[in-house]
Amino acid sequence: AERELLRSQRLDMLAMLAAGLSHDLRNVLQPLLIVPDLLNARSEDPKIRRLGEVISECGRRGHEMADSMLQFVRGARANREHVQLTELFRAVKLLLQGSLPRGVEFEIEAPGESLGIDVNYTELQQTLLNLALNAIQAMPNGGTVRLLARAEQHEGQEFICIEVADTGVGMDAQTQAKLFTPFFTTKSAGTGLGLISCKRIVESYGGSIAVRSAPGAGTTFEVRLPLSPDVLPEEPGEVIADGRGRR
Ligand code: ADP
Repeated sequence: AERELLRSQRLDMLAMLAAGLSHDLRNVLQPLLIVPDLLNARSEDPKIRRLGEVISECGRRGHEMADSMLQFVRGARANREHVQLTELFRAVKLLLQGSLPRGVEFEIEAPGESLGIDVNYTELQQTLLNLALNAIQAMPNGGTVRLLARAEQHEGQEFICIEVADTGVGMDAQTQAKLFTPFFTTKSAGTGLGLISCKRIVESYGGSIAVRSAPGAGTTFEVRLPLSPDVLPEEPGEVIADGRGRR
């Protein structure tokens, strides 16, 4: 599970970079679409006009390339389906059970058959695996990871809240402030891409991630996702663009 997760984190990061790049590329190319008109308006010289056509053709082709790159990356975001949380929790537990260190318990509180959400199954599973693996790694002396979910209401909107709680080493405020910075890691073999990848996925559904932690007191991550099905997934790359995502 861990190797697979590393691979998907890298792919995810690559998709983010590609989306960011194609976004920037389109902006950079914008003037090429305008300059030829200016040249045409100011010059009768056929050579200059021909030059304008060449420039504008480059601009158009560049735009097309940037668009198809963005489309390709977007296509990598597969379909949504109704994901039953109890089922998903059991799958996550099954994936991790074989590699639990001695003394680490993995408990799920099954939220009941009725609790589910329309998202991409793999994306949500990857998010929970990331959080659960972090939780396991935070308990070198053993402890318990607990996975649970509940329905919530905020300002008239319905959410599901998924909690991944551990009884591990916890984090000080400084570490908490850097959690979602790409490549921030305190582990010798860490990538620092796990949480930023979770955040990107959750925010693409209009959701949010919160953390409660203190040194020695364990950590609880809360993932909130709106239940309303009309939130469209956003394009990846926004996280790169302003460092925190759009919301
Ligand atoms: P990585 O796991 O590769 O380090 P992440 O982005 O998943 O990357 O996590 C970044 C850092 O956040 C970790 O290195 C660790 O310091 C801290 N962290 C994440 N989850 C927990 C947790 N449950 N308990 C304590 N620290 C955590």
